Amino acid sequence: MEKAAAHSRILELRSILEENSRLYYVDNAPRMSDYEYDQLMHELEALEADFPEFASDDSPTRRVGSDLEDNAAGSPSGREFVQRPHRYPMLSLGNTYSIEEVEEFSARADKALDMSFTYCCELKFDGTAICLTYRKGKLVQALTRGDGIVGDDVTQNAFRISNIPRQLKGDYPEEFEIRGEVLMPFEAFDHLNELRVLDEEQPFANPRNAASGSLKLLNPDEVAGRGLWCTLYHIPAQSLDFESHDQALRAAASWGLPVSEHRRLCRNIAEIKEYIDYWDVERKNLPFATDGVVIKINEMACQRALGYTSKSPRWAVAYKFKAEQALTPILSIDYQVGRTGAITPVANLEPVLLSGTIVKRATLVNEDQMRMLDIHEGDSVYVEKGGEIIPKITAVEPSRRKPGAKLPAFPSVCPDCGTPLVREEDEAKWFCPNSDGCPMQIKGELLHFTGRKAMDILAGEATVDQLFTLGLARTPADLYDLSLHQLMALEGWREKSAMRFRASLDKSKEVPFERVLFALGIRYVGETTAKAVARYFGDIDSLIAASEEQLKEVPDVGDVSAASIYSYFKDERHLIEIQRLKAHGLHFGAETPSENLSDALAGKSIVISGTFSISRDDMKALIEKHGGKNSGSISGKTSFLLAGEKPGPEKLRKCAQLDVPILSEEDFLKLLPADEQGAKDDKVEQLSLF
Ligand code: NAD
Repeated sequence: MEKAAAHSRILELRSILEENSRLYYVDNAPRMSDYEYDQLMHELEALEADFPEFASDDSPTRRVGSDLEDNAAGSPSGREFVQRPHRYPMLSLGNTYSIEEVEEFSARADKALDMSFTYCCELKFDGTAICLTYRKGKLVQALTRGDGIVGDDVTQNAFRISNIPRQLKGDYPEEFEIRGEVLMPFEAFDHLNELRVLDEEQPFANPRNAASGSLKLLNPDEVAGRGLWCTLYHIPAQSLDFESHDQALRAAASWGLPVSEHRRLCRNIAEIKEYIDYWDVERKNLPFATDGVVIKINEMACQRALGYTSKSPRWAVAYKFKAEQALTPILSIDYQVGRTGAITPVANLEPVLLSGTIVKRATLVNEDQMRMLDIHEGDSVYVEKGGEIIPKITAVEPSRRKPGAKLPAFPSVCPDCGTPLVREEDEAKWFCPNSDGCPMQIKGELLHFTGRKAMDILAGEATVDQLFTLGLARTPADLYDLSLHQLMALEGWREKSAMRFRASLDKSKEVPFERVLFALGIRYVGETTAKAVARYFGDIDSLIAASEEQLKEVPDVGDVSAASIYSYFKDERHLIEIQRLKAHGLHFGAETPSENLSDALAGKSIVISGTFSISRDDMKALIEKHGGKNSGSISGKTSFLLAGEKPGPEKLRKCAQLDVPILSEEDFLKLLPADEQGAKDDKVEQLSLF
C-alpha cells in the first residue's frame, strides 16, 4: 500500500474504532459485531507495524477501550461516579480467533523463558471487568476498569451483587486486590429485556452490555434487582505474592470469594486445544455468556519475566469463539400476521446446519431491517444464532446475487384478510388494524390463550384452526361453551380426545389470576407485567376500575403498558368476554388456592421498599405465602411498610404523613412462625450457590 493511502486508512480506522468503542463501552449499544471490530483492530495493528512513522500513543491499538463517561462534557446518561486511580493498571488481553496464533503465543513464551512452565486455561467470561479491594477481610472498594488507569467507584453497587462477599472468611491477608467479571446470567438478561421491550425501551444487545449498563446504574437498589453475578479470576502479582496463578485463585476461593471451577492446568498446546474444543461446545450449557477462553502462563516468575505491553500482559492470550454463521439462499419470504396484527417478514431458507440444528427459517424483523440488509429476492444470506438461540440474518453475500434480482415488495394489505396495513409514527412494524375480523389475529389470540404459559389448554394450531374455520370458536369463552357432543362430532375427534380436551378446559379453571390476565393477550402485557398488575390490584374489578395514573404506579408497568391496559378495559366487548369467562369459573381474583405456609399476615396490606437479605421478588413471595398482600404504594389501608436497606425517601415521608408503621426486616421476620428464619436462610444459601 502507498504511504499516503496507508496514512489515510490508519486515520479512518482509528476514527471508526474510537466511535465504536464509545458505543460499546459507554453507551452499551454496539453497532458492529465483536468479530468485525477485532478484524478492523488487527488491520490497524498491521498497518501501524508496516508504517511505524504513523504510530501514535493515542491509537486504540495502544490504549484500553475506556468505559468512563466524559463527565466534564456532561454525561449522556446523567451518571456521575467518583473516579479513582487503579493501584496497578487494569489492562486488556491480546486476542485471536485462530489456533495458529495461540501456537505462536506458546512458541514465543517457550523462546523467551528459560524455565519450564504450565498454562492455566480459563473461560473468558463475557461481562464487564471489576476490581475489588478487601481490607481486614472487608470489601472496601470496587472499581470498574475505566480507562485502565482510573475507574469508576461502584462500591455501593458491588454491595448489591449477591455473590460478592462483604466479609471474607478463613486466613485472608490484611489487604489485597482481586479482579474479575460482573456478568448477567441469561435468565436475568431475558427478564430484563422483556421488561424493557414492554416499556418501549431499547433492549440490551447482549448480556455483556446489560451487565455493564447495570453495574453503572446510579441507584444501588436498582442494581440489586438486576440479578448480576460475579466471578473472580486474577490477583495482581504486585498485590500478593504467590508462586502461581492457580495457587492464588485457590487461596481466594478458601477466603469465600467466587472463583470459577472451570479452569484447567495444561502442560502443552495439545491440552490447550482439548480445553478449547471442549468449551466451544459445552459453553452452550452454561447459564451465562462466555466468548472464548483465556490462556495464562501459570507461574508468577514467568509472568514477571514476560511483562506487559501498554495494553495487555504478554503472559496471556484470549482465544475468542467466532459466532457460528452459515451461508444459505432465501427461497421465499412470508409475511406473518401476529395476534396483535403486527406484520413480520420471515425468510424461508434452504435448510442449513447451524450450531447443531437445521435452520429453515429466520426472521427479517421488519421492513426497515430488510432495507438495511439490502435483501433482494433469492439472495444468499449469512445466518447467525442471536444469543445462541434465535436464528437471525446478519448480512447478504453480494457476490452471490443473481443478475436482475428484484427488491421484495413489502405488502400494502394484510396477507390474511386484505385490509390495508397501517404504520403508526413511532412503530417499527406495519399492522393490520382489523383486529376483530382478521382470521390470523383471532386464531393468534386463541392460541395465545391456550398456550402453556397462559391457560395450558390442549389446543394447538390445528385444533384452533379447525374450531375457528367451523365457526365454533372466535373468542376464548367460546372454547368453554363447547360440549362433549359437539367435539366428538368433529372430523378426526373421538370420545377420548374430546374428553381430554374438556378435561384440560376444566383444569384451566385452576389457573391463577395473574396467568388468566396474561392469557387475555392485552398488548404490552407479558407474563411479568401481568403478575405485577394482578398482585397489585388483587382482582379484576379493581383493575377494571383503575385509572391510567394508578396503573402507572404498579412496579414494572410503564406508560405504554398502562395506556394499553386502560384502553383494553374501556372496550365493552372485552368486558362482556370477561363476564363470560367469569361465569365459566376462571379465576379473576386472589381466591387462587396457594401453598400457604401460614396465615400470619392474613388481611395485611404490605408495601416493601429498599433491599433485603433476599431478593425483592423472594420477599414478596414470602409475604404472600403467609397470607399477606403486596401493594405498590402507601395509602391509609397499608398495614405497614417493610423497609430494607435504603428504602425510598418518598415512601418514608408518606408513612410519616399517614401514620403507617415501618418494620425492619428483622422485626418483620418475628411476625412469621419460628421456622421461617431458617427457610429464608436456605433460600439465601441457594442463591449464593449459583
Ligand atoms: P476483551 O474483552 O477482548 O478481553 C479482556 C477482558 O476479558 C478483560 O478486561 C476481562 O474483563 C475479560 N475476561 C473475561 N474472562 C477473563 C479471564 N478468565 N481472565 C482474564 N480476563 C478475563 O478485551 P476488552 O479490552 O475488554 O475489550 C475489547 C474487545 O471488546 C474487543 O476485542 C472487541 O471484541 C470488543 N469490542 C467490541 C466493540 C463493538 O463495537 N462490537 C467495540 C469495542 C470493543
